[in-house]
Amino acid sequence: MIKKSTSKLEPLYDKKVQCTLCQHSFTTKKVRSRFVKPIQTDTDFGPLFAPGDSNNPLLYYVVVCPQCGYSYTQDFRKSISGTAKQIIIDKISSKKSDNVDYSEQRDFAIAERAYKLAVYCGQLTNEKNIALAKLCLRLAWLYRNIGNESEELRFLNFAAEEFEQSYIKSEFDPLNTPEIYILYMIGELKRRLGAHNEAVQYFSAVTEHQDRSRYTKYLNLARKQWRLTAEEYRTHA
Ligand SMILES: [Zn+2]
Repeated sequence: MIKKSTSKLEPLYDKKVQCTLCQHSFTTKKVRSRFVKPIQTDTDFGPLFAPGDSNNPLLYYVVVCPQCGYSYTQDFRKSISGTAKQIIIDKISSKKSDNVDYSEQRDFAIAERAYKLAVYCGQLTNEKNIALAKLCLRLAWLYRNIGNESEELRFLNFAAEEFEQSYIKSEFDPLNTPEIYILYMIGELKRRLGAHNEAVQYFSAVTEHQDRSRYTKYLNLARKQWRLTAEEYRTHA
């Protein structure tokens, strides 16, 4: 028997989630992967979407709990200490005044608000640097999509700092986030920020990394971006 489809498949669907902080159950939108069609992917892996294409999964990366206001991503810690919980309750939950519904379709302004809330929550709870790096990187990509270069660079800079801290502290899960990826990202973000010497140091570290033959993608990209950095340096020197 053929199951009759009663409605057209929509790009967005509701994902059930449970708040990491207060355990409240709610739904948040996600974009079905078949509708995700970036026109280009940048050298820092940032996707660019055609103007007017609202099926951008970056808009839904941050989850905002409607009950307590805690805002987080899939990369944030899965359990929160009692002290951190109390800080969120004092600084976020008790001051919750906005009536924005984050569980519905989001435009740029709502997504931006959700990201900034998550940055604030992450700072308050001393979230892992790698989680904050990925958060700031995605917010930078969103700014790139709307052509706001100064905010893009501001958040690329935060992302670079957080990636550097996670590398220095060796505080990341190498299965999810290989060290060679982190080194490449720092190099590429430094290049975009005009820090040519630092960029070259990190690209060089990628080409000498023990995992380079396993991750040839990053090795090849690092070589290519290293050459580009040298060219940029010559033209701007
Ligand atoms: Zn909550």
